[in-house]
Amino acid sequence: MAKSEERMKDIEICMHYGEVPNSYNGAIIPPTFSNTLFVYPTFEELGKAVSNEQNHFVYTRGTNPTVQIAEQKLAELECGEACKCFASGMAAISAALVHSLKSGDHVLCISNVYFSSMDLLIYMEKFNVSHSVIYSTDIAAIEQALLPTTKVIYLECPTDHNFRLVDLKALACLAKNKGIRTIIDNTWATPLFQKPLTHGIDIVVHSTSKYLGGHSDLMGGAVISNKQIISKLFTDEFILFGGIMPPREASQLLRSLRTLPIRMATHEANALKVAKFLESHSAVEAVHYPGLPSHPDYGLGQRQLTGYSGLLSFTLKNATYETVKEVINKTKVFQIGVSWGSFESLIMSPNYGNNADQLKKEHTSPGLIRLSVGQGDADELIQDLKQALE
Ligand SMILES: *Cc1c(COP(=O)(O)O)cnc(C)c1O
Repeated sequence: MAKSEERMKDIEICMHYGEVPNSYNGAIIPPTFSNTLFVYPTFEELGKAVSNEQNHFVYTRGTNPTVQIAEQKLAELECGEACKCFASGMAAISAALVHSLKSGDHVLCISNVYFSSMDLLIYMEKFNVSHSVIYSTDIAAIEQALLPTTKVIYLECPTDHNFRLVDLKALACLAKNKGIRTIIDNTWATPLFQKPLTHGIDIVVHSTSKYLGGHSDLMGGAVISNKQIISKLFTDEFILFGGIMPPREASQLLRSLRTLPIRMATHEANALKVAKFLESHSAVEAVHYPGLPSHPDYGLGQRQLTGYSGLLSFTLKNATYETVKEVINKTKVFQIGVSWGSFESLIMSPNYGNNADQLKKEHTSPGLIRLSVGQGDADELIQDLKQALE
């Protein structure tokens, strides 16, 4: 599909897909079905529904009409067959990983991933699931790092902290040949800018608490894959762990998805301006943003991504905790806080002044500062960074 055609289709999905106003009195947005259970005219009909709960409304811990619309939209945006929504990104990630692993299995992580995802893999050691990290995005190096027991390759693309890209098609091909499942956290790109399932990746996970929510007022997660994987995950980790997305959150997610395309366009335009400014600044050693033509993976990004979101990092020439702290504390428009992907602009660093060994292990410079470029005016954001870097 041509880029512009794909974009039009995505906008249509975000706005209207899965919604049938005629079936709710013409209401332009679907109602929030906050009920916990659904009744049936006869016991036989209830029995039928219970035996195929994924396709019938029985109890909201399984399926719910409002949540289902959000799931249909996310599946369609990712070019997947099915989706389940969760209470948080971590609920989605833990369901996808537990679903794919058993005792004795090994997980290969590609470079840095979200810190709680890494902590989850460490936690899973108690179930005899091991993991290792390959600090390279090169496919040959990744192949070298596989073990006979590797059952899952887990990654974010771009990678956390350093924003390097992985060739998803080549990775999926390598994994398929070896019978290894691939799971990608696609939170950074959103399904608007990267569709990993179309490259052969098996499972996509999201934190909807970032761009998909976009207003810092909604926590959620999603797992998207083919029907077979989602069906099994539904009866196992979804129903049994119970970390579901509540209907009110799903309703708010539907609200947010309607503006996702315009919000992402602003994040992209703002972040590119900010990245270009940083690149030209004498106090900055390097800017890590795959939308910059100087980025080492720019060519790959042009083939694999249709856009670039607003989260990036840069490294100070004077790479110490003291300088990092000073720059962060001097910003006025950028606010200091964790998370990202919302209207506000945020600044932080993985260097907390007490974790030098950890940073070294993660191949992360002590001078690294992370920016979440929000919906504000790009020139104002640049002015703020300019005075902070002086
Ligand atoms: C925030 C985040 C998560 C975790 O999502 P929650 O909704 O906070 O549980 C996972 N992956 C990435 C890349 C994130 O930024």
